[in-house]
Amino acid sequence: MSEKGFLTRYIGAEFTKVEILTRAPNQRTKNPNAYVVIARAYKEETLPKPGSRPELALASASETLEELWLFPVAPEFCNLACTHCLYAASPLRKNPYRLTDTELAKIFAELASLGAAPHLLFTGGEPTLHPRLYALLDQVDQQGYSFQLHTNGTRIQAEEARHLASFAHLKKVQISLEGPSAELNDSVMGQGLYQRVLRAIAELRMHEVPVAIAVTPMESNQDSLPQIEQFAAEKGAELVQILLYDLGAATNNGLKPAVTTSPENDQINTTLMCDKGVAYSEGKYFACPVLVKDPDALLGDSLSEALSPQARQQVRQLRDTKAACAVCLKGSA
Ligand code: SF4
Repeated sequence: MSEKGFLTRYIGAEFTKVEILTRAPNQRTKNPNAYVVIARAYKEETLPKPGSRPELALASASETLEELWLFPVAPEFCNLACTHCLYAASPLRKNPYRLTDTELAKIFAELASLGAAPHLLFTGGEPTLHPRLYALLDQVDQQGYSFQLHTNGTRIQAEEARHLASFAHLKKVQISLEGPSAELNDSVMGQGLYQRVLRAIAELRMHEVPVAIAVTPMESNQDSLPQIEQFAAEKGAELVQILLYDLGAATNNGLKPAVTTSPENDQINTTLMCDKGVAYSEGKYFACPVLVKDPDALLGDSLSEALSPQARQQVRQLRDTKAACAVCLKGSA
């Protein structure tokens, strides 16, 4: 029986599709045929329907623009230098760009003129390095946009957690954790970071802020994914798997993604980030957050330009040519 058939049978008959995410020898036993498998099981009614989603387009932005990624600071501006960072961010990179109130007001105005109310994802770089991040988030919250914040957690203490807890429209704070131990996590994020990340998660949970723990499955941590999953469950946090792109520091450090096996017959039709939104970074719009440092992915200075038929054609061409797009299309997370 195939792995998929085995899991379908033993997870439960109501699951109609099983996606194998990782598969590694079970080191707790001497049995060479024993494996630890992480899988995602779908019920029929939750299976993505191929081609069922209308294409992202300017004329239908009110319905099709679901996500807008926002970089409050430049992607490479960070207080850490994680070994897998696709922007090769580090404290040594001094890009002075900061999202301004004027820019945010312009974004709100464009969204309003299109009748669009996407979910806003604040990311970086490390967004909390923006000196007025919380003032910007206040404006977003007052405008009624649902939003989330992606952070390395190092600058989240009690005061920040309290502030985040006060937002009515904050859906979650996403924090990176790359291993269930200081040794493994800190080999990616840097010395002493494991304890700081844990403190931030504890502070946020204490203030009842929804937390997502983001892990990037790599060769180095793939055997520990079950423990990270368990840790997330214990903290009442969602677990999000991030794809490893062969870009930036990941390339420089020769990192390899976790070994995965593809679904047997057909591709899981997860919706790509560039299918449901665009990214705003350093004053311009790009196809997605992965490619915000790639001039080929620049779609324009305005949301209307980024959603125009020409821009959507440009995104389709990217998907045919970019190595990063091949990673997304493989859809291993
Ligand atoms: S497929 Fe390419 S353009 Fe689309 S989200 Fe992935 S990297 Fe970005």
